Amino acid sequence: MTKKRIAIIGAGPSGLAQMRAFQSAANKGEEIPEIVCFEKQDNWGGLWNYTWRTGLDENGEPVHCSMYRYLWSNGPKEGLEFADYSFEEHFGKQIASYPPRAVLFDYIKGRVEKADVRKWIRFNSPIRWVEYNEDAGNFTVTVHDHAKDSTYKEDFDHVICASGHFSTPNVPFYPGFDSFNGRVLHAHDFRDAREFKGKDILILGASYSAEDIGSQCWKYGAKSITTSYRSAPMGFNWPDNWDEVPALEAVKGNTAFFADGTQKEVDAIILCTGYKHFFSFLPDDLRLKTANRLAAADLYKGVVFAHNPKMFYLGMQDQWFTFNMFDAQAWWVRDAIMGKIEIPSDKATLLADVKEREEREEASDDVKYAIKYQGDYVLELIEETDYPTFDVAGACQAFYEWKGHKAEDIMAFRNHSYKSVITGTMAPIHHTPWKDALDDSLEVYLQN
Ligand SMILES: Cc1cc2nc3c(=O)[nH]c(=O)nc-3n(C[C@H](O)[C@H](O)[C@H](O)COP(=O)(O)OP(=O)(O)OC[C@H]3O[C@@H](n4cnc5c(N)ncnc54)[C@H](O)[C@@H]3O)c2cc1C
Repeated sequence: MTKKRIAIIGAGPSGLAQMRAFQSAANKGEEIPEIVCFEKQDNWGGLWNYTWRTGLDENGEPVHCSMYRYLWSNGPKEGLEFADYSFEEHFGKQIASYPPRAVLFDYIKGRVEKADVRKWIRFNSPIRWVEYNEDAGNFTVTVHDHAKDSTYKEDFDHVICASGHFSTPNVPFYPGFDSFNGRVLHAHDFRDAREFKGKDILILGASYSAEDIGSQCWKYGAKSITTSYRSAPMGFNWPDNWDEVPALEAVKGNTAFFADGTQKEVDAIILCTGYKHFFSFLPDDLRLKTANRLAAADLYKGVVFAHNPKMFYLGMQDQWFTFNMFDAQAWWVRDAIMGKIEIPSDKATLLADVKEREEREEASDDVKYAIKYQGDYVLELIEETDYPTFDVAGACQAFYEWKGHKAEDIMAFRNHSYKSVITGTMAPIHHTPWKDALDDSLEVYLQN
């Protein structure tokens, strides 16, 4: 019998989790399908594969990276630790709780180097199109090989889409943007906070990007930060040179006008206005259409595409949990593909599962409820596979404490530390408070 062939789209944390899941089964002596991962960039890591580039990459593809130079984890690392590869295993010691981007990238990389799955990845290979063949019951994918500058087609039994959903910016227009005398950019194109040193910055949005990009600009010397919200302010105890104002109505020259009648002279406008689930390589019958929420539309168990259960999606939810949730999903998808988990054959059952998840999510808009909701989801999937179980309630607890620390002092929450739910070790307090740690290279961060 010929082996099944599996296409994974994307070698970010989700796609890498999928490869590690298959490799761990192979390690146990199980016969695994043939795995081919197609990655548009020239390296793995997804959003964590940092580039200074914005706009288009060296191949003319839209730049995937939305991360910026001085990004540090925005939640405690104890909430995302891999259950099969602890921070202590990777770094040879316990490290502080909010690692900068380069440190987390190193950690993600360490696990898959150990698993030796790089050989399954075809880099510089964006997927151009995927089609489902009704007669054969399989998929044809069209790939662009940038090294040869040629396209080709291959057939697969399953497609696992792990292409991420924080890369295609949602860019609103406000009157006056086209004649603003300064830079208007989306968070996707923000790279180095030093660019805004000494400047008055307006940030649109009231979510993580607005909070963190504003904090970056503050840390690296912006003159003032103004964040503009549409529904509710973030409400933190901001530094003196940071104001929260209601919705922007228009700009004229360099003056921004807000819904409460106030105005402010600004040098630059940063749009922290979110991202779109965007799959230009998928036809209507395979394309996920969902809002950024915990119960993503049309995904049975959060991973099986209800309209074609041979197609899977990873990491498409809004995220409290990240790396360990991608693992939980990847192990589950692996077992579904390898026939250890049965996917119900009728669409009504698949969609009923989605509806139940949506209703449960909508039952409360409390943050603690949302964290627990996603923790329960992670546990639900883990319990159905051999992914090493861990103290998910303990990870939720780290998130609750993190929320409390942010409320206490938004510019100091990263100075706290938490206990690993994988090894039970307490993380050390970082040697330098976040606001003073201007050099956040891996070498400096890891100094004792
Ligand atoms: C600014 C920012 C900060 C964040 N900070 C944190 C944080 O501190 N902690 C945390 O846990 N999470 C954070 N996240 C969340 C982030 O979503 C996850 O950590 C993680 O990167 C998601 O992994 P993924 O593999 O699902 O998607 P991605 O990381 O987006 O990876 C998707 C991969 O698919 C590839 N791809 C896309 N289209 C194609 C195609 N057509 N063909 C082939 N390949 C393709 C891309 O090149 C990419 O490599 C942050 C996100 C953003 C945007």
